[in-house]
Amino acid sequence: MHLGRCPRCGGDLHCHSVSYFNTEAICCDCKTEQRQLPGFAAAQAAEEAAVAGGNLNFPGVGLTSSDRDMMAQLIAARHSKVGGKAESG
Ligand SMILES: [Zn+2]
Repeated sequence: MHLGRCPRCGGDLHCHSVSYFNTEAICCDCKTEQRQLPGFAAAQAAEEAAVAGGNLNFPGVGLTSSDRDMMAQLIAARHSKVGGKAESG
């Protein structure tokens, strides 16, 4: 089973979920990290409000430029960690 690559960090989607911000299928690392983004609370609230209102296809509020900046920093920090966890494919 091959699900492709995470659109955010390029990692394998061995473990994936859908972002609160949009409809991208992202990896679990990105899902964890997106909780740190400045817009996360609002994105989650909007998603939950939409679902509560019966809109199960809510496309998300999208990522602001500050969210994207933070995400890029988090992904860069993750990739800069060198040591035991080498890419094994
Ligand atoms: Zn990712």
